[in-house]
Amino acid sequence: MSVNSRLSGFRDESPTARRGLLAGQGGHDPDAFRALDPSAGLTVEQADHMIENVVGVFGVPLGVATNFTINDEDVLIPMATEEPSVVAAASNAARIARASGGFRTSSSRPVMQAQIQVVDVEDPEGARLRLLDARHELMQAADEQDPQLVELGGGVRDISVRVVESRAGRYVVLHLMVDVRDAMGANAVNSMAEALAVRVGEIARGRVLLRILTNKADTRLARASAVFDAEELGGPDVAADIVHAGALAEADPYRAATHNKGIMNGITAVVLATGNDTRAVESGAHSHAVGADGRYTALSHFETDTGGNLVGTLELPMPVGLVGGATKVHPAARAAVGLLGVATAQQLAEVITAAGLAQNLAALRALATEGIQRGHMSLHARNVAVSAGATSDELPHVVSRLVADRAVRADHADRVLAELRAGGR
Ligand code: NAD
Repeated sequence: MSVNSRLSGFRDESPTARRGLLAGQGGHDPDAFRALDPSAGLTVEQADHMIENVVGVFGVPLGVATNFTINDEDVLIPMATEEPSVVAAASNAARIARASGGFRTSSSRPVMQAQIQVVDVEDPEGARLRLLDARHELMQAADEQDPQLVELGGGVRDISVRVVESRAGRYVVLHLMVDVRDAMGANAVNSMAEALAVRVGEIARGRVLLRILTNKADTRLARASAVFDAEELGGPDVAADIVHAGALAEADPYRAATHNKGIMNGITAVVLATGNDTRAVESGAHSHAVGADGRYTALSHFETDTGGNLVGTLELPMPVGLVGGATKVHPAARAAVGLLGVATAQQLAEVITAAGLAQNLAALRALATEGIQRGHMSLHARNVAVSAGATSDELPHVVSRLVADRAVRADHADRVLAELRAGGR
């Protein structure tokens, strides 16, 4: 059943009513999203099987970004984040993109790489060619480790061998490139690398040390682009200023770090919501942000088209899966994947990348116009007011006072609350 991601009035409902609306939207079971309620989510017993020394379960708010159209299909995007304004900003940017057709996405095949490091090699260049000569034997031996993956159309695609100069010596490093289908793939490629270690050491005539995947997943890229109508953005000047904002991030690592953090606000939230490995995606993103010249730069780019509209593009590694890891074990992650309705890891990777681009655009638009604080502060003010002890009845008054007084601080919240309770507004 097709989804309409517009969901007008969604934000005015209660969380329970919102879950009901989501179920109705996609033709899901009415209880499909109950696992998103902490009372029906991950239990301590389940958590105890996931990691070590479990003493509890840590809650993170899960919201749904609306308005997304990706490759002509509407999508509702679950986002798990503790940061106010992330979900609203993504939804807002998606609304702007929607006016010009939404996001277009694509991705490479889901190919992950493992590295096998060989030390104490007499003839690293000779070893390199001997290993490449044994390509067929090594690929076959690796595939035998995961017949299920081969059955599913995945498996080893190629090997490559590098000689890496380091301060402690020259290493022969073999890369195993594996199509991991719908898995994130770390365990899958690590098992293959382990299995090849002895044979690689024999062929290279050295000692095998590390056997582990690389998180620089540059053979597993996802891409998103969108046109943002200049008028919808606030006018041609705003579009032009966003180009300046993006250009500074391309040129200056100090700005690039924050620019990329804005992208990761969207990406990490969806990665976490779907039970995927946030650190794997983050290390892949940051390694990809270093260009061939060794300089850290922006992951996304902004240009204007001939009509003066803004064109945003983003490409980065996206090692996420729908099987393995916590994705199948965590009940809330399963519900989040169900909401997205994605059938393959590649589709999931593309949706996440579109969310990253939307988040990036929203932040740049705010920065290039009113500054980030206005929108952010009213949401932050809610947290400050709640921390000061404001009840739901008191909340609207305290929040609007904190924002109006431009003093979103705990001491001021205490003062406003005391005044309110004393009856003096
Ligand atoms: P996994 O080993 O549980 O599952 C992988 C298996 O899923 C593959 O072997 C494959 O046979 C199978 N598979 C692939 N597509 C399928 C499909 N469509 N249907 C059914 N089965 C399919 O998990 P994984 O993805 O290999 O590893 C992910 C975990 O590894 C994550 O929890 C991650 O945190 C962790 N990890 C990460 C790193 C790192 O990033 N450096 C290192 C070690 C472990």
